[in-house]
Amino acid sequence: MADYQLIIIGGGLSGLAAGIRAARFGRKALILEQHWQPGGLNSYYFRNGHLLETGLHAMTNFAPPGVKHAPLNRLFRQLKLSRREFATHEQLRSEVVFPGRSLCFSNDLALLTEEINRQFPDSVDDFQRLVKQVREYDPFAVRPWRSTREFLSAVLGNRQLEDMLLLPLMVYGSSEEHDMDLGQFVIMFQAIFLEGFFRPGETIRELLDMLVSHYKEFGGEIRYRARVARLVKNGDRVTGVILEDGEELSCDAVLSTAGLPGTARLADWPLDQDAHSGRMSFMETVNLVPSARRLSLKNDRTIIFYNRNENLSYCRPGEALDPTWGVICFPDNFQGLPQADPFQIRITNAANYAVWKAADQETYSRMKEKWRARSAAEAGKIIGNYQQDVVYVNSFTPVTIERFTSKAWGAVYGSPIKFKDGRTPLVNLFLAGTDQGYLGIVGSMLSGVTIVNQHLLT
Ligand SMILES: Cc1cc2nc3c(=O)[nH]c(=O)nc-3n(C[C@H](O)[C@H](O)[C@H](O)COP(=O)(O)OP(=O)(O)OC[C@H]3O[C@@H](n4cnc5c(N)ncnc54)[C@H](O)[C@@H]3O)c2cc1C
Repeated sequence: MADYQLIIIGGGLSGLAAGIRAARFGRKALILEQHWQPGGLNSYYFRNGHLLETGLHAMTNFAPPGVKHAPLNRLFRQLKLSRREFATHEQLRSEVVFPGRSLCFSNDLALLTEEINRQFPDSVDDFQRLVKQVREYDPFAVRPWRSTREFLSAVLGNRQLEDMLLLPLMVYGSSEEHDMDLGQFVIMFQAIFLEGFFRPGETIRELLDMLVSHYKEFGGEIRYRARVARLVKNGDRVTGVILEDGEELSCDAVLSTAGLPGTARLADWPLDQDAHSGRMSFMETVNLVPSARRLSLKNDRTIIFYNRNENLSYCRPGEALDPTWGVICFPDNFQGLPQADPFQIRITNAANYAVWKAADQETYSRMKEKWRARSAAEAGKIIGNYQQDVVYVNSFTPVTIERFTSKAWGAVYGSPIKFKDGRTPLVNLFLAGTDQGYLGIVGSMLSGVTIVNQHLLT
């Protein structure tokens, strides 16, 4: 008999959710995580006595408890967690800022509709038609790739409005440059504009602790500092894994959340690594600013998506960073959260992995300083200058993302080609998480649950 029925590679949110679902149904499951703590892209660390989250701007797919078919509530039911005991704080309002125009939105679609009516009065009927079509579209039906750009141009026919709607959806969920698959657009439109942003009552640490202890209560095991070095195969089956220290563990099936290129390497299955490695990665800077400086900044938004160019150019920049478009997030600005002191400003910009990777240590540090300053200067044009007040600053780059998650080229949203059914060329090796096609915190957890339901509970 094998040591485990299921081995899960990765203790990020998709791995934890998959583990809970499998353990809840009595599967002998083991999660192997290369780091010393869980969370993957969404983890935390301590600096200057503050807990800083690595990824969490906001969770998407807000739904109040009781809305039965909402993805968030379905997720909680599948994990046998109480949605009512999970405190949530909705966003205040967010904004998309382009030259000469801006659109606010909240978790109530009426605000975005009013804003479009104000800024693009000729397009408001088209926008309502778009919403209707999004609601009727099944993004999970298997279909060939379809261009969102072409779809939007047919429905809206207004390039600036299209760009303004696309910016939040792309920057929070597109591994493709310039365009995205229509199914992915619909998932993101629902997650952000129809359902909306929220934060858990506490930090990502408490959420991760809750998931890990829930998993253990069902009998699941998790091992940290346990990096899988390769998979053991027999014909078209996986029979176990070998850890970096040489230990071998046998299993009936493996679920990998290590991304498509990473999983193919572990399984030694031939894959065109270039075609399957995402080009979109980001640098993010976390700034701590004393709350006394709050009033001198525009800080009543939760998230500001900005673009200072005429058109949106969602692509990997030629230089190390493109500060002309990006995201400004105030993670403390959610309804009902106490005012934090100091408060956080997080700035995210597209970054070029290859340029960061090529730098030696000294150049890398200098580049961080230089691009951080340029990014802050651009963000300052929108929210006011805050650089002189920063009491703590830290940035991570595509290289950091790659180091901490093994995502090839630091591609946050993984491969532009998704394996939506989670199947691989090996019959008992499955993929969950980013490269299965669901993104973000709620999405990656749904992915873990869905793949376990589809392939591992029979
Ligand atoms: C800057 C930033 C901001 C973000 N902000 C948000 C946000 O505000 N809201 C939101 O919803 N989403 C956000 N995201 C996206 C979200 O974090 C991810 O979509 C989600 O966490 C992906 O989860 P995952 O489990 O699929 O992958 P990961 O988090 O990458 O987890 C994979 C895990 O596998 C482990 N692993 C890899 N290879 C091996 C191996 N060989 N052996 C053992 N372990 C291995 C890794 O260490 C990692 O822990 C953000 C991401 C970033 C980078």
